[in-house]
Amino acid sequence: MDEGSRAGTRPGARLSPQWVLHLLLGAAVLLCLGVAGLVLWLLPFARRRRRERAASCTVCHRHQRAGVVAVAGFAVLLLLGAAVRTQAAAGPLDQCSTRFTSGAEEVVAEEGPGRPPSSSGWWGRTRSAVTAPTSGVMLMATGALGMSHCSGSAVLVAFPPPPAPGGGGSVIGDVFVSWVPEADQAGSALPGQETYVQFGSDATAHPEQVEAIGRHESRHVDQWTIATVAGGPMALPVAYYLDSLVFPLSRNHFERAAGLGDGGYDTPPDFGPDPLWGPVGITAVVVLLLIRRRIRWASRVLVGGRSARDTGEEGRCPVHSRGWFRGSAH
Ligand SMILES: [Zn+2]
Ligand SMILES: [Zn+2]
Repeated sequence: MDEGSRAGTRPGARLSPQWVLHLLLGAAVLLCLGVAGLVLWLLPFARRRRRERAASCTVCHRHQRAGVVAVAGFAVLLLLGAAVRTQAAAGPLDQCSTRFTSGAEEVVAEEGPGRPPSSSGWWGRTRSAVTAPTSGVMLMATGALGMSHCSGSAVLVAFPPPPAPGGGGSVIGDVFVSWVPEADQAGSALPGQETYVQFGSDATAHPEQVEAIGRHESRHVDQWTIATVAGGPMALPVAYYLDSLVFPLSRNHFERAAGLGDGGYDTPPDFGPDPLWGPVGITAVVVLLLIRRRIRWASRVLVGGRSARDTGEEGRCPVHSRGWFRGSAH
């Protein structure tokens, strides 16, 4: 019987240390893996299976302990991030400035680009709160790299110190992180991206253009918010990466949803798949390595039939039992 249901049968046991630990772990799972992670963690069937595995298999037991440590550690990092992001919202962060050429003169925009509507109001506050842990971690990481921060119309901006210009970037949480460009790539556009605008601290473009990019990046913040609630802070980067393997650059569904024109992307001749075979191969190898024990188990089931499915070594579950094609214990 597990701690949760046992605690439920004892009057007054709800405040037991075990129960508090359970609640804390549940909160950490929600923070790290979103609603989907919490539901999977709470499913009675999955809970029973985890308990059985931990009791009968030393490897499963070890993996579960490592999982708890990883989730707890990640949750602490995210809480620290939330605190840093909250402090940045409260503290005076410089406004990002915009420069553009008007005739022969370079003008610093007085009004700056307008805010996208989704960055204010209840939705704006919701997405700030939901993305705060990730954003704060990025503020810490970019700060450690020597980058500076400013407050833009739609997002916070982390940029390398002058004279290195920021060349493009990515929204992580609600922070636009400029890529630190290689010396020979300074100011170049992405392949497939025709226009180049230095976005952020010292944007050298007309406010309308900066506003368009702000709109685009703001939609990425919307995506971050929904993905973080659904599956935690890693959900969007993983989904974006997997989508990019088959639909790279302007074919990417997240970029299309954020608006290709606003983001300065070229519209491709078609939106069909255009796989990046190199990265697809590397990703496939990584996935095969991660599921190698299941493949080993499947090889034994293939040879030994149904009886091989549920049999394993002493102290190990079938998946963690050793031996290809034939079990080593039976
Ligand atoms: Zn196991
Ligand atoms: Zn984008």
